Amino acid sequence: MRLLVTGGAGFIGSHYVRTALTTAADVTELVVLDRFTYAGNPENLAPVAADPRLRVVRADVADPAAVDPLVAAADVVVHFAAETHVDRSIEGAAGFVRTNVVGTQVLLDAALRHGVGKFVNVSTDEVYGSLETGSWTEDHPLEPNSPYSASKASADLLVRAYGRTHGLPVCTTRCSNNYGPYQFPEKVVPLFVTSLLDGGTVPLYGEGANVRDWLHVDDHCRGIDLVVRGGRPGEVYNIGGGTELTNRQLTERLLAAVGADWSRVRHVPDRPGHDLRYSVDTTKIRTELGYAPVHDLDAGLAETVEWYRTHEHWWRPLLATRP
Ligand code: NAD
Repeated sequence: MRLLVTGGAGFIGSHYVRTALTTAADVTELVVLDRFTYAGNPENLAPVAADPRLRVVRADVADPAAVDPLVAAADVVVHFAAETHVDRSIEGAAGFVRTNVVGTQVLLDAALRHGVGKFVNVSTDEVYGSLETGSWTEDHPLEPNSPYSASKASADLLVRAYGRTHGLPVCTTRCSNNYGPYQFPEKVVPLFVTSLLDGGTVPLYGEGANVRDWLHVDDHCRGIDLVVRGGRPGEVYNIGGGTELTNRQLTERLLAAVGADWSRVRHVPDRPGHDLRYSVDTTKIRTELGYAPVHDLDAGLAETVEWYRTHEHWWRPLLATRP
């Protein structure tokens, strides 16, 4: 299987690449297409850099000339590349529309031209909006509230349309919040952990009442791989862990893991349009594809904190580029 992985130098994409090259014997070629924005880091691929099946191409998913030959040489496209930080999308949405919407359309056009065997669009539960009780199934309407989630929802609709109109074998995955190693230290877990390890304070939005379902990046990539191999064309699959925490509970766990107390937390005004709660129903991927997350949340968070503690050489140089 020849894989094209867009955004393969980012947090989740690089985990997918490292895992595929170390565990999947049927991967004969793996090309990473990545623009290496602030979030893309060659260090994330260092553990597999010597693998002869890996080729890394610095390019923009919204550039048709760069994308075309790479898609032509792939059996499967796994599309992670995106602008991903909600706060940045509030400051300016143009880059989100360009990469997340136009970039996805450029890839879909190339996939259609070259008849790829499968196109897997990695999306997010944030496209559904916010809910107080219950969980979203895949047929819930898309009601995104941030420019980031609106751009991802737009991409999801384009993916659906290329499947319906052109018969392109597309799948979309919608996952909950990920944590794990190699996450850029602007997102809440690595931001909090690196700030606490550095002796600083951490900013908690409002009262920390927002609820998120936390999933280890490895469990997310396990779900994507099941969809790559067995997902039915045209289908959407939610991926999640069923492990919900308020931001306050998450903060408590991270403080405990680094041996700090609440004096290190400063309350900051809530993010505009901040979704209160996300929750995905994962019955479909569990029953159709046999998905089950394997990482326990407390153990996974403890391992993640330990990874940042022992990988200061990875995150220290990145602090200058975070907001
Ligand atoms: P990330 O920000 O860590 O990485 C994004 C990668 O895309 C980087 O390597 C970056 O250089 C690359 N990229 C950005 N613009 C590009 C462009 N124009 N052309 C080529 N490459 C470009 O993101 P992540 O957290 O790894 O998320 C990966 C995907 O998973 C995204 O599509 C995101 O929406 C989705 N997702 C993330 C989460 C999460 O909790 N982080 C949850 C669900 C879904």
